[in-house]
Amino acid sequence: MEINSFCPECENGIFLYEQPKPGLVPCKRCGKGREAVGKGELDAQGAISRCGFCDCVEFYRQKDFNTKLGLWITAAILGSALVFFLKDWLKTGFGILVAGALLDLALYFGLSDIVICYNCRAIYRGLPINPKVEGFDLKIHDRYAFHKKK
Ligand SMILES: [Zn+2]
Ligand SMILES: [Zn+2]
Repeated sequence: MEINSFCPECENGIFLYEQPKPGLVPCKRCGKGREAVGKGELDAQGAISRCGFCDCVEFYRQKDFNTKLGLWITAAILGSALVFFLKDWLKTGFGILVAGALLDLALYFGLSDIVICYNCRAIYRGLPINPKVEGFDLKIHDRYAFHKKK
C-alpha cells in the first residue's frame, strides 16, 4: 500500500507505506506536517474503508496518474483548472466538471485505479478497491467541500 497526501503548510507531498499513526505526520520540507486521526481501517478484502488521516469513510476511484505522461496530463488539467478558478471562482463547480471530463478522457490510457478520500484527498494506491467505491461524485464532493472537517 502506498498513501499520498500533502502538507497543508507548504503543499509538499507526503508519502506513506502504511496507515498513519495518530498525531502529526511530519513534512520533510517545512518541518510541520499533516495531523492524522490515525484510525485508518481496511475491510475484510483489504480495501480501504476509513481514511487514516481524517477519519472519513467516503472515497472515490480514479485512474492512477502515477506515470510521467499521467503527471503531465494532470499538471495540464490542474493548470487550466487553476486559471479557470482565478478567472471566476464562483464557477468552481463547473471547473471541476470540466476537469472530471478530462479525467474521463484519460481512462483511455488504461491506467489502474486508485482510491481517493473525499474529505482530505489522500490517495490510496496498491490496495484492492471495494466495489461500492464509485467514480467522483460532485454532490458528495460538495458536501465535504462546504462542511470541511480539518
Ligand atoms: Zn510542509
Ligand atoms: Zn481523508
